[in-house]
Amino acid sequence: MAERLPDTDWTQRSDLAALVDALGAENVRWVGGAVRDTLLGLPVKDIDAATPLLPEDVIERCKAASIRTVPTGIDHGTITALLDESPVEVTTLRHDVSTDGRRATVAFASEWRDDAARRDFTINALYAAPHTLEILDYFGGLEDLAARRVRFIGDPHQRIREDHLRILRYYRFQARFGAALDEAAEDACAQLAPMMKGLSRERVAMELLAILALPDPAPTIARMRTRGVLPVILPETGTAQIAALERLVAAERSYGIAGDPITRLAALLPPVETIGESVAARLRLSRKHRDLLTCLARRQPEDGTAARALAYREGSECAIGRLALAGEDPRDLVEWEVPELPLKGGEIVEHGISGPDVSKLLRTVETRWIAENFPGRNRVEEILQEELSTRTKS
Ligand code: ATP
Ligand code: MG
Repeated sequence: MAERLPDTDWTQRSDLAALVDALGAENVRWVGGAVRDTLLGLPVKDIDAATPLLPEDVIERCKAASIRTVPTGIDHGTITALLDESPVEVTTLRHDVSTDGRRATVAFASEWRDDAARRDFTINALYAAPHTLEILDYFGGLEDLAARRVRFIGDPHQRIREDHLRILRYYRFQARFGAALDEAAEDACAQLAPMMKGLSRERVAMELLAILALPDPAPTIARMRTRGVLPVILPETGTAQIAALERLVAAERSYGIAGDPITRLAALLPPVETIGESVAARLRLSRKHRDLLTCLARRQPEDGTAARALAYREGSECAIGRLALAGEDPRDLVEWEVPELPLKGGEIVEHGISGPDVSKLLRTVETRWIAENFPGRNRVEEILQEELSTRTKS
């Protein structure tokens, strides 16, 4: 693999060049995902820089060059430079002083190699110099990247003991890039998996959802289950649920719809509302995700018939997810914009109706409108007239 980063759109960005000028080219190396993904020819999400300069110095030099900064994580050395195209995180070289499996105490370092050594995988510890685009590779990351090997820097056991979240990071990168499995890493993950119980649930949830957001997480999730890693964080998942995930991913593929991590999580759970609720609470999911997960958990085998009505009542995300989980075609719904009932309560009042009868009548019209597959305003007016005349008759 190349010893140099190929020139791509981001390496030619003028706002990055201004940052490099401000800090001095010798003080900047691009690092992590941006370097790894560019070497693989993949699009780059965000750009991280490493520097031997201390955070205060980074702030001062940026200020002198009229680059605005935010001290996002100044305690552990991270400054965000607000550049024209996107913010860039500039982090001072660090090495770990002590670790407890959940968080590390770090000290600033002056050697690139020290900074590289505390990173998780060899493919994540590649640095690229601005201008020359020359790669710094202390741990054989280029070779591993070419072979698509996700290899811990150093001893997997030790690296996982330092930070238990690395178990999930290992599977995430393995699902994304891995070709062959690394037996030593797989064994270490399996052995140390129970330690993940001590991690913050938000961090676990974020990593799990990041795995579930990948193009095809099913083989990795299946392996995580058989190796005893998944049961630590998702004991609800059995072989039937693994099969459900495989079917869901197959349905997404055949219908060309995007994979949704919450729908995939729903596949990994028995379709029982209380289970959806308890998993959402345990993983500290957002309200939106919790509602979606419980809605998906309420799925019934006969779903799919009244898909639009379901989308109207429960939101199209849930309806699309339920169809995909049932292996049915959700494309119609993906295109469909959920309409609003083209009738207001005020119009009913104008017909001399008052009190609770207004919302009652509104609901009756709505129910018929849904049953007739959401016709336009004219038909809704007709329905209203019909309902009004039955009222006067009775
Ligand atoms: P992504 O494309 O998923 O963002 P990334 O490599 O940028 O991939 P991040 O989680 O953004 O991953 O982290 C940035 C870099 O920080 C990683 O490439 C790695 O070098 C280092 N890193 C992040 N988390 C850890 C960790 N838990 N242990 C060691 N190094 C880590
Ligand atoms: Mg990143």
